[in-house]
Amino acid sequence: MSLKQLPSYLHGEHVGPWAVFLEQINRVTPHLGQYAAWADTLRLPKRCLIVDVPIHMDDGTVRHFEGYRVQHNISRGPGKGGVRYHPEVTLSEVMALAGWMTIKNAAVNLPYGGAKGGVRVEPRTLSTNELERMTRRYTSEIGIIIGPDRDIPAPDVNTNEKIMAWMMDTYSMNVGATTPRVVTGKPVSLGGSLGRRDATGRGCYIVAREAMARRGMEMRGARVAIQGFGNVGNAAARVFHDAGAKLVAVQDVAGTIYASAGIDPHALCRHLDAGGALLDFPGTARIPPDEFWAVDCEVMLPAALGNQITVDNASALRARFVIEGANGPTTPQAEDILLDKGILVVPDVLANAGGVTVSYFEWVQNSSSYFWTENDINDRLDRALTEAFRAIWSVAAEKGVALRTAAFIVACTRVLEARAMRGLYP
Ligand code: NAD
Repeated sequence: MSLKQLPSYLHGEHVGPWAVFLEQINRVTPHLGQYAAWADTLRLPKRCLIVDVPIHMDDGTVRHFEGYRVQHNISRGPGKGGVRYHPEVTLSEVMALAGWMTIKNAAVNLPYGGAKGGVRVEPRTLSTNELERMTRRYTSEIGIIIGPDRDIPAPDVNTNEKIMAWMMDTYSMNVGATTPRVVTGKPVSLGGSLGRRDATGRGCYIVAREAMARRGMEMRGARVAIQGFGNVGNAAARVFHDAGAKLVAVQDVAGTIYASAGIDPHALCRHLDAGGALLDFPGTARIPPDEFWAVDCEVMLPAALGNQITVDNASALRARFVIEGANGPTTPQAEDILLDKGILVVPDVLANAGGVTVSYFEWVQNSSSYFWTENDINDRLDRALTEAFRAIWSVAAEKGVALRTAAFIVACTRVLEARAMRGLYP
């Protein structure tokens, strides 16, 4: 199939994350051998649903929100990916995020395709009741394509356990049966998994450990700088610290703190939980935000937003490893600079796959209604990511390519092999 035959909404000048995703597919295609013939499968989402989400506001007026659910690829299993509430989310952004879920799930060999959802809303402007009504109406609207064996949503930016509980309840009411498997990231009391909360940060640690071992570096005493102290950054900080690494810098939206002697992330969590400000954490110095990227450290862990390491700051990095906790924190041009400097970049599709891996464990536990211990989950996560790292590392070594390209080669080959074996119907 030629790209000229693609539907009209995918024609023309692609910009933003979907353009980046298409470029990544273009770059990997020459490495796909016989499966390159099927690569257009990845350039065209399987299904894109746009929904109108009207709700009664607390003041009696009616407001409409635009929602999306995209199933980028379902060749290897049901769609899987989070739901984002953000005022600037667009169909094309959700398409790209769904595409990256296809890659991530296949890179770690989960039996899922890739999907993502979103609603254009600033959730902080809604009351709790309005947020619940919007979530329930959105869930009903996308109910025609989601389901425990069709497409399984999860939390993403600005969505959480509570929202997953409402989604699970709404879907269950609509089908007339309690269906915990329809979403993951649920509260533990509703069938959520132990270990899910820290899973993404723990995964960052596991892949960093594997990368450092291959460069002959010790975790004990390694200096780590983390951007973002939310779900991912906070958990990663604690796991690195507990393994003997030294957290030397933390940046969040309010600013940056630095301590050459190290920052205890457990104490920092207690300080923040008690209402303290990051910048007031005792024993640390404030540094200007721009200086964060030049901090002397072994591991730099962006765990906040996309597009943070750019051509403007990439040359300043002194770290030996960049572990991408966030989605898309490094621009392609900045990655070229990092690679030229000999910095090892562990890409997001591998580095932050711990979350979806434990989501998969949650779905499996829900299927059998038998729940594992937290130790069991952490051990299984470690094994899954260590094996994924090993497979991607060996492709990188064999083909002489960066880890991101290797991860795409492994993932796209798995997806397209499944596509080719299934054949076309009719
Ligand atoms: P979060 O909202 O819990 O935390 C975000 C952190 O980033 C906060 O500490 C915030 O202060 C900081 N931040 C925001 N703007 C910033 C700025 N301009 N400069 C510096 N810091 C800033 O989010 P999260 O769930 O930890 O997700 C972080 C990233 O990881 C996102 O890119 C997300 O897509 C990705 N991710 C998350 C998961 C997960 O399981 N939560 C899984 C995979 C990928």
